[in-house]
Amino acid sequence: MATLSEVQTVKLLLDGEFRESAGTQFHEVKDPATQEVLARVPFATDGELDAAVKSAQAAFLEWRDRPLSDRARLFMKFQDLLKAHKTDIAKTLCRESGKLLADAEGDLWRGIEVAEHACGIATLLMGETAENVARNIDTISMQQPLGVCAGITPFNFPGMIPLWMYPMAIACGNAFVLKPSEQDPMTVMRVAELFVEAGFPKGLLNIIHGGRDQVDALIRHPLVRAVSFVGSVPVAQHVYKTGADALKRVQCLGGAKNHMVIMPDANRAQTISALVGAACGAAGQRCMAISVAVFVGDSDAIIPELVEAFKKVRPGRWDNADAAYGPQISPRAKQRVLDLITSGKKEGAKCLVDGSGFVMPGYEQGNFVGPTLFDNVTTNMSIYKEEVFGPVLCMMRAKTLDEAIKLINANPYGNGTSIFTRSGAAARKFQHSIEVGQVGINVPIPVPLPFFSFTGSRGSFYGDLHVYGKQAVRFYTQTKTITSRWFEDEGPAAGPNMTISLK
Ligand code: NAD
Repeated sequence: MATLSEVQTVKLLLDGEFRESAGTQFHEVKDPATQEVLARVPFATDGELDAAVKSAQAAFLEWRDRPLSDRARLFMKFQDLLKAHKTDIAKTLCRESGKLLADAEGDLWRGIEVAEHACGIATLLMGETAENVARNIDTISMQQPLGVCAGITPFNFPGMIPLWMYPMAIACGNAFVLKPSEQDPMTVMRVAELFVEAGFPKGLLNIIHGGRDQVDALIRHPLVRAVSFVGSVPVAQHVYKTGADALKRVQCLGGAKNHMVIMPDANRAQTISALVGAACGAAGQRCMAISVAVFVGDSDAIIPELVEAFKKVRPGRWDNADAAYGPQISPRAKQRVLDLITSGKKEGAKCLVDGSGFVMPGYEQGNFVGPTLFDNVTTNMSIYKEEVFGPVLCMMRAKTLDEAIKLINANPYGNGTSIFTRSGAAARKFQHSIEVGQVGINVPIPVPLPFFSFTGSRGSFYGDLHVYGKQAVRFYTQTKTITSRWFEDEGPAAGPNMTISLK
């Protein structure tokens, strides 16, 4: 095991160079399976943060005039490099986040797809035109960039979520300052090396590290025009209020409580496999993880089979081919899951599979939690009200589909939900009536691809325009509308009356 003085220090990306920070406060990045310190992350100083934003502003002033095809070609190179280095980046992601290799590759891939989408920026940026809005007068609208945009990202998708943000912002003609999670920043820095290698001008992407102080200072910086945030609900609310107070354009994606409805006619094997994968995959640390199963009518007859399936699931280290998922990100995150399991038992839920005592042989220091299944969960229990963010599934019953819809709509979150059924009528009713922004029909984790947007709603999202897709183009641009008239000869001058002058 490396001593602290041998451990690498994560660098900043400042004005096109990877530099040591002068910061004196550090966070240790640890392998969640062993607690081995992999790196230390310095929290940026005020001067570094200011330099990052100013470097982005200078880059923006040049970049906004770059032809769209030039921008697109750089993104083609970037996505190509990302694909060529996918597995080695995914291994870094595994080491610092604990994710299994296949899951880490998936995490990165979903980000690469956004970089691919940015290659089509020329079409995405097209505005609107109307000829003869009045006699001899035409109107066009165009989307122009904002300037410096900022992003703050969580630990649980270090490959995908930063790539949700800066490729679309930069393709639209902006420059970007990113503050990644201090818990697993090495993946982000490796991806940034490829961004620089692709040939983007210096200063277009700057990366600083830190916590609340750096986030607040970044949001309030006078040159920052828009802020994109993904993380927990309390921090999303704080960032949204801070951004709005500083008169910034803000989008904040927060936490979730995602329900899956099981109808009596659902395909048995598919339902069980979807429930196990969506509840336990990535150790339950996905904002779209299914954490509540709602059994309608006699669909609960599959519960004994589900219990057996849960008992067979085993976590493990990222390089263990038999493992179903990895450890929680930190001992603190593990303790939070264990506390919620304890509260579930105390508050009267029936624990059918208990993973709270799980210890991984050979990795006794790891943050592993075994798969956990609760029955008889009610809406007043903490395991129902809180986002557990662990491999824990709560089971509830509803007599009818209407009752299940009512239950889900009464929950404050709106990130994702799904229904498993063979009935088109039930699926149609669900998709129409459910007040959740992303709906899966026989799809447990319905994360939209980049030509759509990630559309969580209600308590899971603050703002109006969403990340990636066409909505991201709107978020990262402002609309300019131009009304024009050309005179062919010396005619009479227009009068003062607006209506007459437009005739
Ligand atoms: P977090 O809120 O603790 O941290 C997110 C980011 O905010 C990090 O960069 C962190 O450094 C920063 N931060 C932390 N405390 C802060 C504060 N007080 N003020 C300002 N910034 C602060 O979230 P996390 O634990 O890294 O990520 C998990 C959470 O993110 C879960 O709640 C999950 O549901 C949510 N999430 C949501 C989505 C979505 O699409 N809705 C996607 C991924 C994760």
